[in-house]
Amino acid sequence: MNRVNVSIDRLRQLAHRAEHRPARIPADERSCPRCESHYSAEEMRRNFRVCPACGHHFPAGAHDRLDQLAGPGGWTELWPGLRAADPLGFYDLKAYSDRAQDAEAQTGLGEAIVCAELEVRGRPAVAAIMDFAFMGGSMGAVVGEKLARACDHAAGRALPLLIVTASGGARMQEGVLALMQMAKSVIALDGLAEAGQPVIVVLAHPTTGGVWASFASLGDVIYAEPGALIAFSGPRVIEQTTREKLAPDFGKAELQLHNGQVDAVVDRREMPERIARVLGILHRPQRQQPPGAPGPVQWAQEGAGRAARAAQSIPGLSRRLVDRIRPGHDGDGS
Ligand SMILES: [Zn+2]
Repeated sequence: MNRVNVSIDRLRQLAHRAEHRPARIPADERSCPRCESHYSAEEMRRNFRVCPACGHHFPAGAHDRLDQLAGPGGWTELWPGLRAADPLGFYDLKAYSDRAQDAEAQTGLGEAIVCAELEVRGRPAVAAIMDFAFMGGSMGAVVGEKLARACDHAAGRALPLLIVTASGGARMQEGVLALMQMAKSVIALDGLAEAGQPVIVVLAHPTTGGVWASFASLGDVIYAEPGALIAFSGPRVIEQTTREKLAPDFGKAELQLHNGQVDAVVDRREMPERIARVLGILHRPQRQQPPGAPGPVQWAQEGAGRAARAAQSIPGLSRRLVDRIRPGHDGDGS
């Protein structure tokens, strides 16, 4: 019987051995793994990182996705300064804080999610886009916090929320704090539902673990990119646990569509058009208030304050008349 050894000592030995292993020729990230076509960086960018020959979807970064969704109108990032803390002082082969810093240096992202305000083909929305390149798109406290803020922001501004997921699940380096983000994100989405704003989720490869088991499966409309793995546990973990071979299409977007977990499998190149169409149907903007305008409570308080000042400035006025001064009357007799 094969026993799985995951001891830290063994991992250290493997890491040590890796240093003396001859460097492997790096796989070119612009070669299509399905049809072996090769593309220049410019071709890849122009085609939104989808193989023009066979339609294979390469991984896409959060910034590229925002550029594609927003188009020439651009997007404004929200809360870019949030960074992960390391409350457990977690260390595996490397300190968690070092790992997070390395991820930031490699990806240019502060975390595994980027939130922004944008318009998709003229339809305003708040977007929360995950990026698998940052520590496997794992959900820690910052991902949960940004997602909750995005929900509050969308509710406050009467805007729909657009989420793109690409994640291995909860961030193990943050332990139970990462798992708590599942509950936090679900509550945040519930608040947005109470505010009457729709949520569109796009599941990109891979969407697994705690992300799939929480907010990723809660969209009012759920799209998936072709070939994306959408599952709680990946096939490798299940095969190792059950020692059974799984079907090759296990957890794939197309099968999840058949299972009813997904509303449609949509090519990334058509995604902005599809999203804008759904936003046009679902989104009913509430009466727009100019930014900084007083809310109903503040308005009422100010009105009452004005009425009281007006009453004080006219001492001869009878009590009965003062009671009838309406909010908004400045007491100047006009
Ligand atoms: Zn291809």
